[in-house]
This record gives sequence, structure tokens and C-alpha cells, in this order.
Amino acid sequence: MTGSECWLGIDLGGTYIKWVQLGADGDTLASGRRPTPMTGQADVTEALADVVLARLSAGVHLAGVGIAVPGHLSEDRDSITLLPNVPGEWPGFPLADTIVARTGFDPVLLNDARAFALAEIEFGSAHGSDDVVFATIGTGVGGALAARGTVVTTRRDGFGEVGHTTVVIDGDLCGCGSLGCVEAYAGGAAVLSRAKARGVALELGVVTLAALGRLAESDSVAADVLDEAYDAFAIGIATSCALTGARLVVVGGAVAHELPGYLNRSRERLAERLGLLGPVEVRLAQLGPRAGALGAAVAARITARHRPLSSEPAAHTTLEHLV
Ligand SMILES: [Zn+2]
Repeated sequence: MTGSECWLGIDLGGTYIKWVQLGADGDTLASGRRPTPMTGQADVTEALADVVLARLSAGVHLAGVGIAVPGHLSEDRDSITLLPNVPGEWPGFPLADTIVARTGFDPVLLNDARAFALAEIEFGSAHGSDDVVFATIGTGVGGALAARGTVVTTRRDGFGEVGHTTVVIDGDLCGCGSLGCVEAYAGGAAVLSRAKARGVALELGVVTLAALGRLAESDSVAADVLDEAYDAFAIGIATSCALTGARLVVVGGAVAHELPGYLNRSRERLAERLGLLGPVEVRLAQLGPRAGALGAAVAARITARHRPLSSEPAAHTTLEHLV
């Protein structure tokens, strides 16, 4: 192996597996992506292991590996209990053990929204901030929270699900199985299906929220659906700020850049709560689609730095011990 040590962050998404190689000085030294296999957990895990093995074959001196997943983790953080957007029988599948067996690296697993937050607080819009609400808008709505400059994680990495706070009592069914969540009104998939159900004439093929946004300029029903999405998101953000006392909100995902209504409505709803919350700033995320992979690399770096030098098993040192 050559060169100084690096950390590999991998972001398992429903469409792509993205990765970044993070250097000791915080620079991204290399990055890439490959399609996510649609053929089940074994093939997906093999693809994740291949990313690690390819960096090793390239002579990279890896000090640790982090993997961000769009779901929740088991209590030992070695497997996944909920992963709605990647085909496979994930509950009980030994993801971490399989990666160790294939690569020799014991990966740090974490939720992708928490990874996004780690990256934005380390390198992006939340750098230097204390108490922050994070949200990502994509197919669904992800969330995370930072307190006193540290992204809060819990044993199953389920802390900060802004998208699954309730905005309509007994409202629409959410992908999580609950009723009336923010995501059921403001997530990309929900917005498009709500628009279709109300007869909005969407083009055939891949339809994006940005396309719906353009249509809303001339179609009042499309405008109503988006208005409800903005409001659901904004109320979820305001509720999260009320719960945490955060003074900064960072919103990521391509949709947030394409449809400024999500941020603007959040600012309006937060302003209505000025007496309770004080001034709360709402910013766009800075790091773009590689934020999840970057955050996974940061998680690997944090964990490696705190890994005990004694013979205590590394599996006992995970992010929840750092908060
Ligand atoms: Zn939900």
C-alpha cells in the first residue's frame, strides 16, 4: 500500500452506490458510482464489497470504511431492519459480517440522512453550527438533528426522522406505515402520486418534481399539490425546531434546489413562531449528491479515531458512544 491513510465512504441508494475516498486533510481524493443491483441483498452486498476491494487494488491505504443506508439499523448496528427502497430480504441479513469476510474491513453502518448531516456539519452549510435540524427531500423526506455541534445518533440510528412527524391526524398513508407523515405529502414520490390522483396531466416516462413545478405555473391543481407539499414540509421543520430549539435548518436534495417553495414556506412558518423559537435561519445544503458518501467516510474516520487500542472488540465502538 502507498500514501497516507484514507477513509472510504459508501452511500447505498435506491439507484446508485456512490463512494468517496476521504484524505487525512479532509480532501476528497477520488469518487465514483455504480448502479445498485436490483437482485437482492447478496448482490448488493457484493457490490458494496467490490467498491472496497477496488480501492485496495488501487493501492489505497484505507483506515476505515463507512456505509450509509436509506433505512434503520439493528441494535448491534451490524444489519438493517428497514430498507424500503433497495430490493432484498434485509432484516437479519449479516451485512457488516459479510463485508468483513469479503474485505477484512469492519464497516461503520449509519443512516443516510445522518451521514448527510455529518458531512454538512463537517464541510458544508452547517459547518461551525451548534443546534441544527437537517432535512433531505428526495423520494422521501430524511432528517437528522445536531446538538452542540454533534449529529445525534441512537442505537438503531432512528433519531431525527423529521419526515415522519405527523402533519395531518389520520391523514394519507406514508411509506413507513403511519398516517399523515410529512413524507406522505412532501416526499417526491408522494407529491407525484397525489398529483396523478387529482388528475394532473403529467408526461409519460420519468416525471420529476421540477417538471411538476413548471406545470404548476399554469395548472392550479398542480399548484395546490405543491402548496400542500411545501406546507407539510414547513410544518414538519417548524415542529422539529420547536422540539429541539435549533436555530439553523439545512435542507438538501436536488428538489430543494429546484423548488424554492420548500425553503421559502419553511421560513414563513418559522417566522410565525418567532416568539417561541427566535430567529431560525434556513439554508440550502452545499455538498450535493456526494454528501451521504462523504458523511459515511467522516463516520468511519470518527470511529477509527475513537477505536480503543486495547483488545476490546472494535464492534463495541460505534457512533452512539460519541454523543
Ligand atoms: Zn412516515
